Amino acid sequence: MTTPTPWRLANAAGRAVLVIDDGVYDLECHSAGRYGSDPMEALRHHDGLGALAASLVGTPADGPLVLADLGPPVPRPQKIFGVGLNYRDHAAESAMELPAEPLVFTKFPNCLSGPAADVPVHGTRTDWEAELVVVIGRRGRDIAVADAWDHVAGLTCGQDISDRRLQLAVKPPQFSLGKSYDGFGPTGPVVASLGCFADPTDLGITCERNGEVVQAARTSGMIFPVAELIAYLSSICTLEVGDLIFTGTPDGVGMARGVFLGDGDVLRTIIQGIGTMVNVCRA
Ligand code: ZN
Repeated sequence: MTTPTPWRLANAAGRAVLVIDDGVYDLECHSAGRYGSDPMEALRHHDGLGALAASLVGTPADGPLVLADLGPPVPRPQKIFGVGLNYRDHAAESAMELPAEPLVFTKFPNCLSGPAADVPVHGTRTDWEAELVVVIGRRGRDIAVADAWDHVAGLTCGQDISDRRLQLAVKPPQFSLGKSYDGFGPTGPVVASLGCFADPTDLGITCERNGEVVQAARTSGMIFPVAELIAYLSSICTLEVGDLIFTGTPDGVGMARGVFLGDGDVLRTIIQGIGTMVNVCRA
């Protein structure tokens, strides 16, 4: 596992920006054009972002980091994988057996939104799922577990918003559509590079609904850890720069509580070392 110089990358009104403390730095301007403005392009050259971020320390920021201005930090991934039942306690609360292999579904890229975007509520069974999201930074196929973290650009927060009615309307369940309504994939606020973490395999993850903590866990509780997911997925699909892996949610989702999202509900999603998303639900 490599730990290069830390950097944080965000998407401010469609432009790639580096985030240092509470300020933003336009990537194209501050790199004298070496990097373009596209956050997807920045990920292709993420190896150089640490040096640029280090050189900007002490330089006045272009402006403050404003959550409401941010779009999804990876706006146009080729693929978004979701992993179901990847925490023991969540499998138990869902009354599901532990999967013998990763249970993988798709969230279509139309679902992506930013860290302060409204979450649309469809019907009466729209649910939350706070998740660590892995951002692929190096293309690969048949990646070994030992090499897997070298293919990761960084980590971000995600909400795998789920319409349980649609997900469970048929048997076997159809995860992909029930999790792919427009706006069902808030992500952000930043992609944080691996250098931002003492141990990227053990991060606190929290979800609050209207100020009440509903999920609180550590990512070290995954049944299939990040490196194993990358090895597994890359044995089937070539992973491309910008591909996202929603790594599964810990226990405490609404379905297990008999509580679902409604108009005006506020979801806060926090992952240690990455940041906080605040999404308001709208019927
Ligand atoms: Zn999920």
